[in-house]
Amino acid sequence: MELNDLAIFGGNPAFEKPRSTSNLTRPDKELFLKYIEQDYKNGNLSCDSPIIEQLEKRLAKLHGAKYCVTVCNGLWGLVLTINELRIKGKTEIIMPSLTYRRMGDIAAWLNLIPHFCDVDLNTLAFTPEAAEKGINENTALLLVLHPIVNICDIDGMIKLAEKYQLPLLFDSVESTYAVYNGQPIGSFGNAECFSVHASKFLNGFEGGYITTNDSSLARRLRAARDYGIDENGRCLTLGIDGRLISPHAAMTMACLDGVEDQVKKNKKNFYKYKVLLEDIEGMELVEYSEKERRSYKNILVKLNEKWPLTRDETLKILQEENMVVRPYYYPPLHLKPTVYKTIRGHLKNTEQLMEKYMLLPSGEFVDEKDIELIVDYIKYLRTNYKEISNTLRKQAAVN
Ligand SMILES: *Cc1c(COP(=O)(O)O)cnc(C)c1O
Repeated sequence: MELNDLAIFGGNPAFEKPRSTSNLTRPDKELFLKYIEQDYKNGNLSCDSPIIEQLEKRLAKLHGAKYCVTVCNGLWGLVLTINELRIKGKTEIIMPSLTYRRMGDIAAWLNLIPHFCDVDLNTLAFTPEAAEKGINENTALLLVLHPIVNICDIDGMIKLAEKYQLPLLFDSVESTYAVYNGQPIGSFGNAECFSVHASKFLNGFEGGYITTNDSSLARRLRAARDYGIDENGRCLTLGIDGRLISPHAAMTMACLDGVEDQVKKNKKNFYKYKVLLEDIEGMELVEYSEKERRSYKNILVKLNEKWPLTRDETLKILQEENMVVRPYYYPPLHLKPTVYKTIRGHLKNTEQLMEKYMLLPSGEFVDEKDIELIVDYIKYLRTNYKEISNTLRKQAAVN
């Protein structure tokens, strides 16, 4: 490869079709059609389909939870659940800053103030110690999001919530399928929220769900997704038009059927990256715990002191090759402009970490050959960084 072969310097991109960092699962078409066939025949293409109940049963089982309530998407699932769980009259939600970009908005939709906290320098996880620093007399709820690879100290978070008598909600979108100390994710805290957006582990085109062991919460959430009205026509709570529709449930069912194959593929890809990245100085693969079940959905790498280009340069060069690499949760929420009030201090670890991590292509449409090619490019960048930086600088000067 020559310098001019890089797409950023005028060469052809490595991939004609972009390789994404999203999961983008495409389940067996026949299975999907089988699941919607009954509804299609009955002319039942809205929310009152038996398939919704079947899906909720299956998801509850997967997560080891008593109840599952499906909703139109992950964001509104979180809003409705926080609304049910929050301590009324209190104003703040505790959450990490280095996390999913919409979390602050979710609090703002409820007129609550997101109180951003730090994460751990080594694991990227929100820790009980960091959460405790944010807790005060205004705290309405503790919202714990897991990092993209591996899981927070759930036991520690449960203890913390008990100590301060706070409701505890997990956003476990990135930990679907994982197990913690022998117990599936989805069965912890007051409730856990998930998404089945096309980019997530389970693809339902769009949608979400909440798992809980609390029957009263499940009842209120069922009402909340249906304008606040329960099955007897009584107004139970504040609601929205937030039900999942049956074609989305059918798609999610088809994905559930293929889950084990999907994890096998993800795992194979992960180990392919692991072997190939091993001797690249400056790039460290963030590894999954081998002890318990994981989905291996995301390929996250750290660019350490020995990596000779900035993350932005690295991202830009690879993106030009149609490798849709992405920065890890950037910018962190406490550095983002918002139209609503937030509580944001100086978060030392988050700021130290925020420009060091990136996601590499993964999922159904990435195979081992693709990974070889991706790592070849990474190797080329590592070896030829001097020329690359110089040429980038010259290019910038001309523009
Ligand atoms: C995608 C995502 C959500 C929101 O889910 P949608 O279905 O897209 O609204 C919430 N939390 C996390 C961590 C996510 O990745």
